[in-house]
Amino acid sequence: MSNVTLEKITNLCKRRGFIFQSSEVYGGYNGFWDYGPNGVAMRRALEQAWWNYMVEMRDNVEGQDSTIICNPKVWEASGHVAQFADIMVDNKENNKRYRIDNLMDKQSDEVLAALATALGTDADISKMEAAFETKLKAGEDISNVLGDCAVVCPTSEKPGKWTPPRQFNLMMQTYVGPVFDEDHKAYLRAETCQPIFTNFSAIQTVMRQKLPFGIAQTGKAFRNEINPRNFIFRSREFTQMEMEFFCHDDEAMDWYTYWRDERLNFYYDVLKIDKSKLKTHDHDKLAHYAKAAMDIEFEFPFGWGELEGIHHRGTWDLSQHSEHSGQKLTYFDQDRKEHYTPTVVETSVGLDRLMLALLCSFYDEDEASTQKEGKEKDIRTVLRFPAVIAPVQVAVLPLSKKLAEQAQPLYRKLLKNFRSDYDDKGQIGRRYRRQDEIGTPLCVTFDFDSLEDNAVTVRERDSMTQERVSIDKLQSYIFEKINS
Ligand code: ATP
Repeated sequence: MSNVTLEKITNLCKRRGFIFQSSEVYGGYNGFWDYGPNGVAMRRALEQAWWNYMVEMRDNVEGQDSTIICNPKVWEASGHVAQFADIMVDNKENNKRYRIDNLMDKQSDEVLAALATALGTDADISKMEAAFETKLKAGEDISNVLGDCAVVCPTSEKPGKWTPPRQFNLMMQTYVGPVFDEDHKAYLRAETCQPIFTNFSAIQTVMRQKLPFGIAQTGKAFRNEINPRNFIFRSREFTQMEMEFFCHDDEAMDWYTYWRDERLNFYYDVLKIDKSKLKTHDHDKLAHYAKAAMDIEFEFPFGWGELEGIHHRGTWDLSQHSEHSGQKLTYFDQDRKEHYTPTVVETSVGLDRLMLALLCSFYDEDEASTQKEGKEKDIRTVLRFPAVIAPVQVAVLPLSKKLAEQAQPLYRKLLKNFRSDYDDKGQIGRRYRRQDEIGTPLCVTFDFDSLEDNAVTVRERDSMTQERVSIDKLQSYIFEKINS
């Protein structure tokens, strides 16, 4: 039984060197997280699994890696400078700040009904959020609406003294060059996809790609989130893995369905996430240029949350960049004898959010058979990761330090083919537990008999069964086990 909570995951991540607060010696920094040795090994493996599935295994998807800071005109054209904003309010009584949708999420049905009436819409959070946005843009006075509807502060649990709702732009800013003024202002990218749009024609030409084809990128994105929360679910610096697929508008909805299915298959078949933990959710409100959009949601310990977005983006991005740059971002389709701006279908997932989903998915506690005297139950914590993402795939555990002369060369050999670890410190039982907690699928125990029979004991993480395997056949044995 898993009994997973966010607290257990956070503690395990700290205890076992996966993830901890950035700048922890200074008390941390809200919305920023560092990855330790096991976390970075897993994160790289996960990114590589995505890259392999989305780019390396396909002829019709190319890769790129753009800069984090690009010409600020990119973000003016994309609409981020003017519109990439959340609506926020503060409770003046306790200085707590909320995003309006998160605040509404915590209200009773009565308060929501009062708000809906005041805003002239249904008591549906996304519709009310849209109403706030429209009214703010139109300059309507909605400064007292939260107070009038007795909206409750989730922290003090009583009606708050609310500031007027206001738009808050999420773009992180910096300056480029020696002068810190408006003309030298630049932005850290808020998503990785915009530089894909600006590079579309260059990549299509140099790679001699015909439509339909895609361009993929992984990398850091930055958002000045109002309320970073839920561990690495919502941070201010995170990594995205995005793919933009360019096609003719007539085919776009078929590609949209195709990519939804491909992405779900990645979660089911490659990452082995249980189907009951994932669902799709169509967006109620679509951007004016889009024909469809959906989220793939995962059931986190705090509820269902967006893991990935699948978006039909129309010709919006290429048209905007073309208009602002004065460059043609169109395509001549020789088969159709037609010149057009391609329609885009996007898949976009956060690497850190996916890490959290995997940690929650595979966290488990079971009753170990090794009960100690005086203890009623001996609970084993185990991450049942598939080998493709396990930070360590095989651990070599010599029974005694005296066996290093023979066990070390074996470990060095395994390192060439598998993410491997060597641990000769402490009792063997404790060493197994440590490996279970970081999700190592196989442990290889080298004992004194190994010197005689040239064999080792291989212990499986999930079943805890042990098998004696000849050292000559060990590599192929491990290969088969972790790929089955
Ligand atoms: P949300 O509604 O949760 O803020 P979003 O709809 O703004 O997300 P997108 O802009 O579609 O998200 O970004 C694509 C993906 O990037 C998301 O599905 C998520 O996995 C990831 N992501 C977005 N914002 C963050 C963040 N602040 N921290 C971690 N991951 C994020």
